[in-house]
Amino acid sequence: MKRACKNILVVNAGSSSIKYQLIDMITELPLSSGIVERIGLKEGTLIHKTFIEGVENKIVETFPIPNHTVGLERVAELLTDKKIGVIADPSEIKAVGHRVVHGGEAFTKTVEINNDIKAKVKELFPLAPLHNPANLTGIEVAEKVFPNAVQIAVFDTAFHQTIPDVAYRYAIPAELYENMGIRKYGFHGTSHKFVSQKAIEYLGKSDTKIITIHIGNGASMAAVKNGVCVDTSMGLGPLNGLIMGTRSGDIDPSIIFYLVEQKGYSIEEVSTLLNKKSGMVGLTGDTDMRDIESRVIKGDAIAELSYKMYAYRIKQYIGNYAAAMNGLDAIVFTAGIGENDSIIRNLVCENMNYFGLELNGEKNKIRTSKIREINNEGAKTKILVIPTNEELEIARQSFELIK
Ligand code: AMP
Repeated sequence: MKRACKNILVVNAGSSSIKYQLIDMITELPLSSGIVERIGLKEGTLIHKTFIEGVENKIVETFPIPNHTVGLERVAELLTDKKIGVIADPSEIKAVGHRVVHGGEAFTKTVEINNDIKAKVKELFPLAPLHNPANLTGIEVAEKVFPNAVQIAVFDTAFHQTIPDVAYRYAIPAELYENMGIRKYGFHGTSHKFVSQKAIEYLGKSDTKIITIHIGNGASMAAVKNGVCVDTSMGLGPLNGLIMGTRSGDIDPSIIFYLVEQKGYSIEEVSTLLNKKSGMVGLTGDTDMRDIESRVIKGDAIAELSYKMYAYRIKQYIGNYAAAMNGLDAIVFTAGIGENDSIIRNLVCENMNYFGLELNGEKNKIRTSKIREINNEGAKTKILVIPTNEELEIARQSFELIK
């Protein structure tokens, strides 16, 4: 059934947090955004921003938030507040678009949520034990708080469901795929989709071979051929691939056996080690690239090595995906590091002329929040910086479904 709708609320629920954004789909601009944090702890916090006629207002509240329902109910009150509200009534939100991390093989596109969909999201808990339970809580709470809104699920894995079996299967016994669903799924799909589509528009042709490099706190790359994802660097879970803030990315699995069998580590300890204590924090003690960058500038050797390792892994995946697509029209840098860190972009593109990459030093330094091309004039392969907007992509997909 088609319903008239203008405002979409985007909800990204974590185990102790809810990020949200209310987007006016006529202008595609946010009316409000915020985050509820420390849910379940003694004191929770709510940071709520509104954007009215270009003016930003921010309020911060601290109060006990025992569960997600209390948090989202307060968000609804603030959104409709007589003085600072951006809408008059919750019914002005006709759809809530939920970020759901794992859609397994069941979900290849965005769907309207019903009891069957919720049951399937639940079936996928074992594949995403840290994310899908929180995402389902977000859905159930939003159903209560916004009963008139259509609830929609947008899956992080959906864009990667076009990856062919030759790329998504692991060379382990076939029954592990057939009976347990062990395969590459990939994540950050909304971001890879959003920026690859922007790149296609920018290039002005649809037959394109693009590599998207999403490097933020989490990091992944995707090979996108003619608008369709053909490979990505994360796998069954988000640990594989690039070096990240706290995750190791690709390692030899023997390291795990060595730690468990020879050094007495428990599986929990290895999991914490690889997910939370590795990557840039494991190498340098810092997670934020800005802190590591200032150490590089001061000549700190381990900070410099970690930067080179970070870039080297990205270079390897560029080679990998250029081979997978048999060519390359553009690479796209996006997310916190990709959009802001000119040193990483430079290290990635250095000595890559074989792939047609020629970074322009001056253009690389320019700071703007717009799409920009930072390669030399006439270079074979474009190097683009494209700001990602996962919330807008979720809102667009939700809007498409109900308009
Ligand atoms: P995201 O997950 O996309 O929000 O990215 C967050 C990460 O981006 C931070 O942890 C930083 O490492 C990185 N970042 C943000 N701003 C900058 C900057 N100006 N220079 C370098 N890295 C940055």
